[in-house]
Amino acid sequence: MQDQLNEFSNESGCPKCGNKTVSKVKYTWWGGVLGPRMLNHTKCDSCGYTFNSKTGKSNTPGIIIYSVVIFVIAFALYFFIRNR
Ligand SMILES: [Zn+2]
Repeated sequence: MQDQLNEFSNESGCPKCGNKTVSKVKYTWWGGVLGPRMLNHTKCDSCGYTFNSKTGKSNTPGIIIYSVVIFVIAFALYFFIRNR
C-alpha cells in the first residue's frame, strides 16, 4: 500500500540526502493513522527515506516497539474476551 503523504518543509531536512522537501506520513501499513503521528513519521521526497522529524533519526526501532505494543494489546484483548 502506498503511504499517504502531506507535503511540508522541514528545517533540518532529510538526514540521509539533505533534501528540504519532506512529507509527513499520514497513514502507514504498520501503524494506521495513529502510529506515524506518534513517531512524527516523515518521508523524504527525494530519496524516500523515512525518519522521525523530531529527532532526525530512523523510525525503525520506534516502528518495531509500536508493532510489539499493538500486538501485545491485541493478544491480551483476545484472551480477555475468550476467557470471559
Ligand atoms: Zn532524502
